Amino acid sequence: MTAIQQTSPSQNRNAPDLRAASRGLYIDGAWRPSASGRMIKVTDPSTEAVLALVPDATIEDAAAAVEAAGKAAEGWRNTAPRKRSEILRRCFELMVERSEMLAQLISLENGKALRDARGEVAYAAEFFRWNAEEAVRITGEFGMAPAGTNRIIVDYQPIGICFLITPWNFPAAMATRKIAPALAAGCTVILKPASETPLTAYALAALYAEAGVPPGVVNVLTTTSPGPLTAAILADSRVRKLSFTGSTGVGRALLAEASKHVISCSMELGGNAPFLVFDDADLDVALDGAMVAKMRNAGEACTAANRIYVQSGIYDAFVEGLSRRMAALRVGTGVEEATECGPMITRKAVDKIDRLVKDATARGARLICGGAAPAGQGFFYPPTVLADVPAEAEMAHEEIFGPVAPLSRFETESEVIARANDTEYGLAAYIFTRDLARGMRVASRIEAGMIALNRGLVSDPAAPFGGVKQSGLGREGGQHHGIAEFMEAKYIAANF
Ligand code: NAP
Repeated sequence: MTAIQQTSPSQNRNAPDLRAASRGLYIDGAWRPSASGRMIKVTDPSTEAVLALVPDATIEDAAAAVEAAGKAAEGWRNTAPRKRSEILRRCFELMVERSEMLAQLISLENGKALRDARGEVAYAAEFFRWNAEEAVRITGEFGMAPAGTNRIIVDYQPIGICFLITPWNFPAAMATRKIAPALAAGCTVILKPASETPLTAYALAALYAEAGVPPGVVNVLTTTSPGPLTAAILADSRVRKLSFTGSTGVGRALLAEASKHVISCSMELGGNAPFLVFDDADLDVALDGAMVAKMRNAGEACTAANRIYVQSGIYDAFVEGLSRRMAALRVGTGVEEATECGPMITRKAVDKIDRLVKDATARGARLICGGAAPAGQGFFYPPTVLADVPAEAEMAHEEIFGPVAPLSRFETESEVIARANDTEYGLAAYIFTRDLARGMRVASRIEAGMIALNRGLVSDPAAPFGGVKQSGLGREGGQHHGIAEFMEAKYIAANF
């Protein structure tokens, strides 16, 4: 470990200001230290250097954040939708203006390749543009009761204070995917970003203020005690929403905590995406798709292809083509322009990938390329391809969350559908075939919230993102879906 790293703005015009991104907890429009005075180290996964220190919030700090969100709630819900929309639009514009600086910050604290970080900023900013447009289109319902006795009026109202918890793998997008619709709906929020990647969340908090988001509407705090803090926040009766993105295990614990107070929950949880390639697929399209579905974010994505099933007739060609592409990827530090595969988030993540690869090879999988973590600084793992991965391998049931592509052969459509569905997860799935009827038939039978047909990417702010089974509850983004998670229906039975 070395001293805190600082990049001089004179060397790099877009260098993020790490001091500005670690000024304190962001509560009620002001930066403040934590009540404990304790700090959390933020580490660069490429070098293991300490980038910055951020405060470690206590329950007292959390109470202050709820107080601030409560104080701002009335004013924000009564702000005209057009005005809220214009502020959200300004957030979008500022994110676009600062996109290079934000991409470098994401790359530094998360390790992802700059090209992935740039993609993330564009995706993250889009939630503000999309929700700026949605904020002025929230409508209700009006009709006659079937008995003819009265009118039925349904109004949609902001749900109340929202507690948002986000993971480290998309430090900007997982936050804006929640904050933008919550603000569009008229809610105030408290965000707890992941301890590994808090700097992006704090940098964005400053940007929201500049865009005109009033004090207290967005509050951000970091902590090493997420469990007790969450329990304290959810116990405050003004908090009516918990929106979580993270692992299924933590999601289950949070659902149990929220049930004590019957709080509305949206859960974006883990995945185990199957990637199906039929004999009649266009080989190059399928390989391009596999590279995106597997290697975006170096495999650290909930939608990442986790099990690649290829039909017998195309299997050998696919193994050869994918290994060639994977082996050619340039591994390097996140912020290097040429890097295509950055480091993993932590040493623990590398160890987990290593364990899964060893388990698969011990069970008979063939290692085609990669397969061993290099010595030296940084949490690197090479792009790896495994062929003939058996169904009982641990990686067929657990998220790999790394640059490892496990391939298995299949014979028939019904066999591969059964294998694809043999998991507790149901987030994303990928299908490659030139037969559209088959594509649609298989898509309707796969148990997943999102299907990519002849594409390697599903995420789109204009489409509902979310999973079935133990991959989650609710949807983010999409027409109405994302905002609806932050509103309650109020029905009025009216006689005039
Ligand atoms: P994680 O360990 O579940 O952590 C996610 C967030 O929850 C972090 O902010 C973490 O804080 C916090 N947390 C941990 N324990 C908590 C507790 N007891 N109470 C309240 N908060 C708690 O997940 P991760 O490793 O950061 O992220 C990877 C996971 O997220 C993968 O499973 C991935 O599939 C999933 N994911 C899902 C989606 C989706 O849209 N479905 C998107 C992205 C990622 P600390 O950082 O302080 O521990």
